[in-house]
Amino acid sequence: VKPAIEEIGPKKCTGCFGCYVSCPEKAIEMEFDEDGFFMPIVDHGSCKKCGVCQSKCPVIAERSVGNAVISVNAARTQDANLLKSSSSGGIFGELALSMLSDDGVVVGAGWGNDDLVHLMISSKGDLPSIQGSKYIQSRIGMTYQKVLSQSKEGRKVLFCGTPCQVASLNLFLRGDKKARKNVWTCDVVCHGVASTKAFNVYLDSLARKRGAKDVSRVDFRNKKNGWQDYSIKVDFSNGAKYQKSHSSDPFFVAYIDNLLLRPSCYTCPVSELPRHGDITLGDLWGARKDLYNYWGVSLVILNNERGLSLFKEAIGSDKVISNEISIDYAMKGNPRVSGSNFEIPEQRSTFFKALKTSNPEDEIIEYFQTTPRPKRFLSNVARIYKRIFWRNF
Ligand SMILES: Cc1cc2nc3c(=O)[nH]c(=O)nc-3n(C[C@H](O)[C@H](O)[C@H](O)COP(=O)(O)OP(=O)(O)OC[C@H]3O[C@@H](n4cnc5c(N)ncnc54)[C@H](O)[C@@H]3O)c2cc1C
Repeated sequence: VKPAIEEIGPKKCTGCFGCYVSCPEKAIEMEFDEDGFFMPIVDHGSCKKCGVCQSKCPVIAERSVGNAVISVNAARTQDANLLKSSSSGGIFGELALSMLSDDGVVVGAGWGNDDLVHLMISSKGDLPSIQGSKYIQSRIGMTYQKVLSQSKEGRKVLFCGTPCQVASLNLFLRGDKKARKNVWTCDVVCHGVASTKAFNVYLDSLARKRGAKDVSRVDFRNKKNGWQDYSIKVDFSNGAKYQKSHSSDPFFVAYIDNLLLRPSCYTCPVSELPRHGDITLGDLWGARKDLYNYWGVSLVILNNERGLSLFKEAIGSDKVISNEISIDYAMKGNPRVSGSNFEIPEQRSTFFKALKTSNPEDEIIEYFQTTPRPKRFLSNVARIYKRIFWRNF
């Protein structure tokens, strides 16, 4: 049997690390490819062609976990600090706090020493380290194995990640019903992940222009101007700061216009209904006035009874404002809830060619800035209108 990556080819690989973590021979390493996306590298000397990696690959294996859409909600936490420090309506934070109160652990994407990784936390004080959306792919490493170990020790685990990571964790845990009982999963509605290399080059360029050696903090979803007009905020080691709305920051414009996505994200195989997490979290973009809040509103899809009870437990009697909505309404503002494909923009290949040159920063910024922004004008008008007239806090 061929290794999974050779069966599907690099364009379909989601970079979920499922093959890496499940290979009994440890014959797979994950490395960045030349465009800055994680890719499995097989050591053919060690590979026994056993096929385990194919059975754990969400692109190849049967993915169904028997979910169904059982309830769709517009929700936001009543805790003002939690709401402002979260990307959307702070529901991940409430789920995490509930799990931690129950002596469980929570796993989410946070910054490691050098790059974005998945961190496991067991105390409420560490929650900020895994809050907030980051638009590059995390180096998930052996996290699925750590989730399994915790659950085998009888500890409850809440795991939050992209749809491919959640589908991959489901496959990793498949067959171990006892361990699965202690694990709850949240998948985010996912636009796709941007090239880590492009992002790092962009950060280097911002740092250089400010005479800084390094970046000390990145917040992709700063709510200084509210939820709809979120901005990217970067703090530098020399105290300098950069902050720009997502609608004018070159990196965000290029990300949203699909110039920088991982090849598999254009036709994501796992953004499908029913979703793969017990709970799916997203932004309720396009929320009508009675559901809207200046600081954010989450889309929460409950995909099975376990997800429903975890959500009920977390929201308690008054922690969260939640209103049931239809799945069609949710998908109107957010087609990525199920099966929406993106066209690959013409400039993508030119952009990635530029990324390979020895000193690409300026060329890259130029591409960032000349990316066309279709339909952006009307959405900008709507966003500014809501910012001014719907300021309901
Ligand atoms: C790459 C990416 C693309 C997204 N695209 C969309 C979209 O198109 N439409 C939409 O409605 N919502 C999208 N979201 C989800 C949205 O941004 C919020 O993450 C979600 O609504 C949860 O918000 P919250 O306020 O409940 O919690 P938050 O505190 O914001 O929690 C975010 C959770 O996501 C996890 N996370 C953050 N970054 C990553 C990452 N890179 N990889 C894996 N897990 C991560 C965190 O660990 C945390 O658990 C995306 C999220 C990500 C990470």
